[in-house]
This record gives sequence, C-alpha cells and structure tokens, in this order.
Amino acid sequence: MGPRRLKETDLHIHTVGCYHPGQLLDMARDCYRRINWNRFGFLDRYEGIFGVRLDPVGIFERAVDTGSLDELREVSVYEYRPGGSFEEFNITSYFSNAVVGYYLDREEHEPILAPIVRRHRQEGLTYVEYRNAFATHGEEFRHWHGRFARYLRDASSDGFTARYIIRLDGRAPLESYQEVRQLMSEHPDLVETIVGVDFSGKEIAPRQLLPLYEQLRADRQRCPGNFVEAVVHIGEDFFDLSLESAIRWCHESALYGATRLAHCIALGMEPRVAIARRRERAHQGETVRERRDQIEYDLQHADDLAAYGVQVDADALEREQRDLETREEDTWVRWPYDGSRLQDVVRRQDYVLDDLARLGTVIETCPTSNLCIGGVPGIEHHPFGRLYASEANLAICTDDPGIFDTTLSDEVDRVCEWFQVSPEDLAARVGDPFAYRLAATRTMSTGDSGCHGSSCRGDGLLEGTLQR
Ligand SMILES: [Zn+2]
Repeated sequence: MGPRRLKETDLHIHTVGCYHPGQLLDMARDCYRRINWNRFGFLDRYEGIFGVRLDPVGIFERAVDTGSLDELREVSVYEYRPGGSFEEFNITSYFSNAVVGYYLDREEHEPILAPIVRRHRQEGLTYVEYRNAFATHGEEFRHWHGRFARYLRDASSDGFTARYIIRLDGRAPLESYQEVRQLMSEHPDLVETIVGVDFSGKEIAPRQLLPLYEQLRADRQRCPGNFVEAVVHIGEDFFDLSLESAIRWCHESALYGATRLAHCIALGMEPRVAIARRRERAHQGETVRERRDQIEYDLQHADDLAAYGVQVDADALEREQRDLETREEDTWVRWPYDGSRLQDVVRRQDYVLDDLARLGTVIETCPTSNLCIGGVPGIEHHPFGRLYASEANLAICTDDPGIFDTTLSDEVDRVCEWFQVSPEDLAARVGDPFAYRLAATRTMSTGDSGCHGSSCRGDGLLEGTLQR
C-alpha cells in the first residue's frame, strides 16, 4: 500500500467548508445580489471580529468583471497566522454559508452538492465521508438530510463512494439521534449512505453524551445491519478547560464509544505551548463542574496514571471534592500551572494516546486546519508530530478544504514536508484510511439493508443513566 491510498480517502469533510473561491464565484455569479449576506448576522459579526465591514456584492461585481479571485480568496479562505482561532475561522466560514443558504432557502440541493462531488472526483478521491449540519428539527431535519443523503447516494458510482454523517443537536442528542433513526427507517434506500452521527461546533462534555453513546451501543447490538457510529470534534478548541480536562474529554469520548475523534490537539500540543497561546493565561482555570469531573476521573484512573508517572493524591483530591460540594457548578476554579504539573500533562497525553491505541480509536488529524485554528505558534509546535510518534490510529483529513484552500493530496504532502517524513514511512505508519470508514462492519441480512423493527426507529430508547 503506497502513499497514493492516503490521497484517496477523506474521512472528515464538512460540506459547507468545501467551497474554493472559484466554486463560490460559479455558484453566486447569477445570484450574488439576491443573497442575504447578513444571514445569521454574518456581516455584523465579521465586523465585530475583524473590524471590517464586508461588501460581498462589490467583491462579486469585481470578480465577475475581472475574473480575479483574489478578493474572494481574501474573505472566504482562512489563512495561517500564529494567533489564529476557532472564532475567526468560524466567521470566515459564514461567507460560503451565505451562498449555500441562498440555495437552501429555495430547496435546491443540487447546486450545492454537485460542485463538491465534481471537484473531489477530479482530485482523485474515491471514498469520502461528508458531514453536514442543519439547525432544524423534526420533519424538516429529516427532509433536508434525506435530500442530501440521496444526492450523495446517487453520486456514488464509477469508483467514487460518498457517505453521509449527520450532525446531532448537542442540546438534545438523543432526540436528534431518534430523527436520524426515523429517517433511516422511512428510507431504507439511504441506510447504506448514512453511516454516522457527529458533534461539531462548541465542544460538548463527553459525560453529557453518555446516554447517547449507550443508545448507539444498544442499537448496534439490536440492528447489526443498519447501526451508525459516532464521531466527535474534541480537544480542538478548549481554552475554557484545564489541559487535564481537555485530555480527559478525548479519553472519555473514546471510552464511551466514539469511533473516531477529530483533531485531538489537546493530546498532541506541548503543554507549555498550549498555555502560552493567549495573553489571559489559557487553561489556568475551569468550572467547578469540570474540576469535580476531573477529580472523579483521576481517582478512577489512579493506578493507570501512576504507571505513567502521574501520582494521584487520593486524600487531597477527596478533600478538594468535599470543598467543592458547596460551590455552584458554573463558578470558576483557578488552578495555575507549575513545572511539575506541566510534566504531568505530558504523561497524561502519553497515557491517553496509548489507551486510544489499545481501544482502536482513530484520530482524524487535519494538518492545515489544526495549524490555522489551533493557535499553533509555528510548525515546530504542530500537534501532529506528537500524534505521529504515538501508536494511536491516525487518518489524515482536510476538514474544510475550501476554507483552508487545500486538498487531501496537499495535506499528505504537507505532512511529509513539515515533519520530514518520507511518503513510504507515512503510508506505513498511517495505513489505509479506508479501513477506518464508519459502519464498515455492518452485517446485511439477505436482500435487506438491515432490520427495520421498532427499536431501529429509535422508539426503543434506553433510559439515560447520566443526566446533567
Ligand atoms: Zn471538522
């Protein structure tokens, strides 16, 4: 298996992040004057973050006149700078969101999806898992995701396979998942295409998702032919957590049942670099709720942590637990770092990376995205190096190839160049990402796409065991 295979399978792509400047020009050429550019407050929020009031109509007028994509690139592509942040990236992504929204409002999905699939075919991709989010519920949620999944199903031919991952509503994950089950139950023809559920945007404490993970596990046993798997964005943007908690969030996501973890910068970034990323001393405090969860985790994993050189003082932690009992969950505990705590953070990273390897959990690493969003001060501090040196399963992905103006091929080449790895060594270390596709172990019953009993519609939901 040579490096070519690494450039064929992308397991982490957001549909709205796919549009390169030229594609945006094509999509908006005839409608840019009618687009609601302040959709979701885009222009106001952009001005608030970057201090510039954008004039998208003027930008398109000039692009159409001159054929130059320079201005479009400037506003729709998020480029690397050392202090980059998720917030800046996120607002940049609203530019293409406004174009996509124009078509969504008109119930047209073909103009949105065709350019993506066409480009990925041209780039030589053979297998892609697209993830997508709609901020809707109920019938509308099923309607939109059904249309997208059907388009991708129909686009899967001639050596190109598209699969679909649906983002769940983090505030009501079980209900949202139930909608996915209902969609699959009502449309058995989409079962093969819909392979997973995802959480992205603001990260969610894995403990809040435990009931969902338990439901997924139960459904997998009941419905081996049409289960879906969970992927989650985690350890990417975690400034409001201690580093210990950010590492724990990655670990707990895997322990609870996420098949693949996106990014895990928290497992790969040197702690000294992580805490120096923001002037207000990032990660030096967190909520009482997180501190309590961290203490519980440390007590539970004390023996394993000790094996990695992290000494857990159970008496001290139990005393702290009692002190925290009287405090409101959302209040803040400060907990500054010193040299020995920073060393322990490195050991905790080692412990969790080894445990991910044991569990078989895959880290979806997105080199350019991590560099741009992660506040990485320089390539030598990129978290990839550490992840690569571990034994955890890795898949190289693009995340938002349009917004980062990259391709999967670029990402693989960059890894080789940035980290001075030969293509052969990279291929040997990472393996074939196709092996990490979701729902690969579904077992089909004869002539059917799986069971369609009541449990598969999600109305056999388990009682949540941990509600917060
Ligand atoms: Zn992503």
